[in-house]
Amino acid sequence: MRVRVNVTGIVQGVGFRPFIYRIAVANGLAGYVRNRGDAGVEILLEGSEQAIEAFLRDLTEKKPPLAQIHRVVTTSIPGSNEHTEFKIYKSSKESEHAGSVVPPDVAICNDCLRELRDPKDPRFEYFFITCSNCGPRFTIIERLPYDRENTTMREFPLCSFCLKEYEDPLNRRFHAQTMACPPCGPRAYLMTQDGEEVHAKDPVREAGRLLSEGYTLAVKGYGGFHIATSAILEKPLLALRRTKHRRAKPFAIMARNLEDARSFAEVNPKEEELLTSYSRPIILLNKKSSYSLSPLIAPDLHNVGVMLPYTGLHYLLFDRISDKAFVMTSANPPDQPIVKDNVEALKTLRDTVDYFLCHDRKIAQRCDDSVARVHDNRVAFIRRSRGYAPAPIRLNEKAKRGVLALGGELNGTATILQGDKAFISQHVGDVENLETRAFLEEAANHLIHLTNSHVDAVACDLHPKFTTTNLAEELAERHGWRLFQVQHHHAHVAGLMMEHSLDSLIGVACDGYGYGSDGGAWGGEILLCTHESVESLRLGHLEPQPLLGGDVATRFPLRMAAGILSNKLSVDEWLRRNSQHFPHGKAEAELVLQQLHEKSAVETTSCGRVLDAVAAVLGVCYERTYEGEPAMKLESAAMKGKDALNLKPILNGDVLNTTELLVQIFENRAKVATADLAYSAHAYLAKGLASLAVNAAAENDVESVGFTGGAACNEILATIMRSAVEAAGLRFFVHEAVPSGDGGVSFGQAVVGGFYDS
Ligand SMILES: [Zn+2]
Ligand SMILES: [Zn+2]
Repeated sequence: MRVRVNVTGIVQGVGFRPFIYRIAVANGLAGYVRNRGDAGVEILLEGSEQAIEAFLRDLTEKKPPLAQIHRVVTTSIPGSNEHTEFKIYKSSKESEHAGSVVPPDVAICNDCLRELRDPKDPRFEYFFITCSNCGPRFTIIERLPYDRENTTMREFPLCSFCLKEYEDPLNRRFHAQTMACPPCGPRAYLMTQDGEEVHAKDPVREAGRLLSEGYTLAVKGYGGFHIATSAILEKPLLALRRTKHRRAKPFAIMARNLEDARSFAEVNPKEEELLTSYSRPIILLNKKSSYSLSPLIAPDLHNVGVMLPYTGLHYLLFDRISDKAFVMTSANPPDQPIVKDNVEALKTLRDTVDYFLCHDRKIAQRCDDSVARVHDNRVAFIRRSRGYAPAPIRLNEKAKRGVLALGGELNGTATILQGDKAFISQHVGDVENLETRAFLEEAANHLIHLTNSHVDAVACDLHPKFTTTNLAEELAERHGWRLFQVQHHHAHVAGLMMEHSLDSLIGVACDGYGYGSDGGAWGGEILLCTHESVESLRLGHLEPQPLLGGDVATRFPLRMAAGILSNKLSVDEWLRRNSQHFPHGKAEAELVLQQLHEKSAVETTSCGRVLDAVAAVLGVCYERTYEGEPAMKLESAAMKGKDALNLKPILNGDVLNTTELLVQIFENRAKVATADLAYSAHAYLAKGLASLAVNAAAENDVESVGFTGGAACNEILATIMRSAVEAAGLRFFVHEAVPSGDGGVSFGQAVVGGFYDS
């Protein structure tokens, strides 16, 4: 019998052809396997029907861990058998087809980990041990096809031992482009802050010892540098907060292993699955009551960002010391992308760290760690980057045009939509200056080339002054691309709708700020989004509230609180009494009061600003030193609370009243526990927004309600809203594949640009 089998999915660059070779040989079949130009794999099989059936079973059951099979098409072909053995053919046209799929970076596999610890293995204790099932991919690939000479590994020619494995189809390292061993591969070395090499026999373990002793190190990983330091000692952490200009922003940590992570944080089965997955994201875990790490790591938060080691180097760092975890935070100077080059690191990080643990392999593409939470057994991405990017999100239909989308302003990503695949770039950051703009442009170009995409349109935000909008306008003009400007919250809702293949959706879009289609400051919106609509219908929103002093009100939430309360109460005395929480004290309090009485402030419907105001009234947070800080701290404060006030949401038509909420919180602040008030505020907003959404769904004959925007990362809001919406007999959706926050905006923009019907 002769059959041709075409397999599509993530089947190139993941050890798929050698796997096919092995199962074909094991089942006694002849024929060949080769990569196809459309990123799929073609297999010809000759042999008995039984053997072919066994092969097809093995194909799905035993596939390599990184491979994702989307479709298998088997056709029998006439003619007599031509092959006497099974062969791997190399295709020269591997990447000519649009929509090629490049795998993300992959954490060290168990086989490599075992060899790392085996004194008899040639790669014993080699920090850069990898195979065709693991190691960097996206961060080393400069161009396609994915061959060693097109990666930053080309500077390390294989030794004869490695070459033998590389050429052996039965070896795990057959065509493993990242493979290396101590004589032929990259070398790790330790340097002082002045760039002088410290001669250590074992630089990686020496680095671990220095960390344990309280030194701060820059550690080069797959996608950039981390800054690492002790997770228990106060002195280096205080110094790091000072030099990194991060007063309170939580630091991520790397735990030695799962067991040690459990000693300070709760880990449920879903969280365990994610922590140990080959993507190894940072997961925000609830701190245990026995939390024993320094309070300086995630001050005033109920959770802490934890990841597990994902390279041989990380595992070796923890050898011979007793620390359960180290701080491992992205090394990026304020408002700059993560540092990736050795020279750049020496220049920009020397005042922050005592030592550098470097290696001599270049990083082609920078890539920050991914960050996620688990809500209700579902993954909620905060940042989708290393381990995920640039693997595509698959849509259930094909876009009408190829689109490049550039995102909004904060937490940016780029997305390429090509056919039924959306490729979201790694995390780019806040695109507010030349450096991040250049990084965004470079990441987008690289992605277009890697995926061989044909772009016909560029999508961006509606805000006329965003850096990303200007870039989009430039690109549209330069390439003759069609330009789509997409309202911020519409992008959020459209993305959520497409993620779940819905035709229409009532979206509750809540975050800090987005430029509204009326030019206003939006952020607590009920939108009706339909397939192929270039904008949403705004069906409801939070009560507009004054932003006293504009952007300053975002930084000092007491201003927000004063503005809201003054709709009903006199706040003069209270504000004067609390003037120490303003940077300029009494004088500033008087200025705020003056602004209040002038009634000239711009207004916002932002949900984030209301949460900020509650945080200020409760004394949970008076200054935002990082994005989302007051709201995050309020959620943490609410974790142990209950709905003590049980307020009934006040709807004025399609507007949810927030003044009364603030007044109730304010008047009960001395009588009811802070945790209960914090929870009650969440409950009011979630129930109120859900009512607006349910009403809008009924009026427009829509069956689905979704929650999106940065505030959808808030577990309490999402949980209460879900029960209210489901109690009304509607279906409730949240993001599972893309971040609900602004890291997902480019995806939503691409969807709008790609499916708009004219
Ligand atoms: Zn491996
Ligand atoms: Zn070698």
